[in-house]
Amino acid sequence: MSTKVAPVFNPFEAAQGQFDRVADQLNLDVEIRSILRWPLREFRFQIPVRMDDGSIKVFFGFRVQHNDARGPAKGGIRFHPNETLDTVRALAMWMTWKTAAADLPLGGGKGGVVVDPATLSVGEKERLCRGWIDGIWKNLGPRIDVPAPDVGTTPQMMGWMMDEYSKLTGQYEPGAITGKPVGSGGSLGRTEATGSGVITTVREAMARMGIDSTRTTASIQGFGNVAQYAALGFVEALGGKVVCISCYDRHEKGAVSFAKTDGVDVKFLQSITDQYGTVDKAKARAAGYGIEPGDAWIAKDVDVLIPAALEGQITADNVGSISPKVQIIAEGANGPTTPEADEVIRARGTFLIPDFLCNAGGVTVSYFESVQSDANYYWEHEAVLRRLDQKMTSAFKGVVGMADSRDVYMRDAAYMVAIDRVVKAMELRGWV
Ligand code: GLU
Repeated sequence: MSTKVAPVFNPFEAAQGQFDRVADQLNLDVEIRSILRWPLREFRFQIPVRMDDGSIKVFFGFRVQHNDARGPAKGGIRFHPNETLDTVRALAMWMTWKTAAADLPLGGGKGGVVVDPATLSVGEKERLCRGWIDGIWKNLGPRIDVPAPDVGTTPQMMGWMMDEYSKLTGQYEPGAITGKPVGSGGSLGRTEATGSGVITTVREAMARMGIDSTRTTASIQGFGNVAQYAALGFVEALGGKVVCISCYDRHEKGAVSFAKTDGVDVKFLQSITDQYGTVDKAKARAAGYGIEPGDAWIAKDVDVLIPAALEGQITADNVGSISPKVQIIAEGANGPTTPEADEVIRARGTFLIPDFLCNAGGVTVSYFESVQSDANYYWEHEAVLRRLDQKMTSAFKGVVGMADSRDVYMRDAAYMVAIDRVVKAMELRGWV
């Protein structure tokens, strides 16, 4: 009897595997590879937090700086119960490629805390955010490493973190954190930036493939910050229909899909979603939505799939259920596709917009925010969105140009563009 055990998905191994594959194709020097396969610096620290009941609870925090050859390390902080050093390492590495693919003068980093933020009161959240800064602030700064929001963290949390950092350094330091609230050093357009950037890349992919976006449908995994604005953009900017969204239901501790063949009303769904991304099933059902299993999103007969939740979601087990109708997969999440599933997508020739290209809109507006914070001069909303569109369009064209000229898969092409830029900076600085 054979017992088949599904491989456990380790995002850092996946990230290293993706890098190795392209490093081979580029004949990259062994010295360069050994620097880039691992983060430059890693921090793991305790965060003791006074809870509302008077007890002290110790949380574990991480910050990983993968590379800073092109500029200060940059990347979000996740608050997630399954966070590990390896998830943070992978995400930090992907940030290096993301800032390089978007041609931002930044490196890559990521942070995390092992916690389910939905279990904390507002006061506990604030103390945890301040505690995270207390544990790592000496290794952060506008010229060192600039954190931002990600899964489980919000602009308000970034506001507390900026305040704590400013108190510790003794001066107002808005450039030390991005994704802050507007009115407290934040940039207009940052909230919708990632989802809106996803849609810019989908628009460019459709233009290249000769697809009329107004006749297309999409199915989306996730209904957090990225997914909500991607869904809105798919409907409002592209004129398409979103027929399914799948999201985590924190009451059921599992995913649920919300389906509507004539297209979901994104604003209505937003109005019945709590701050942690859980949609109210009863209200959705009353409004005519089909409530389906969590993995229903992947099997829909749509033109575009947008995984915009977490890493490791399209796997060897479910990749086969992707409809032959799907023409574009736009990775709004970081690392949503496992290496085994990626092989299948590569072989079937679906046009893939790889994660660190597709979701680079957030860090792009974070970069704009740090520029505005440094100058203490804030731009109009329209100017932010216009510059975001320009950056995302040119990043997309750069990667497509590489895919065409070397006749390679889009993920490999994105790696080639990014690795070239990072290696060039390392060479110019005399690291290699
Ligand atoms: N957390 C976002 C990402 O994964 C944004 C990072 C940033 O703004 O620095 O790209």
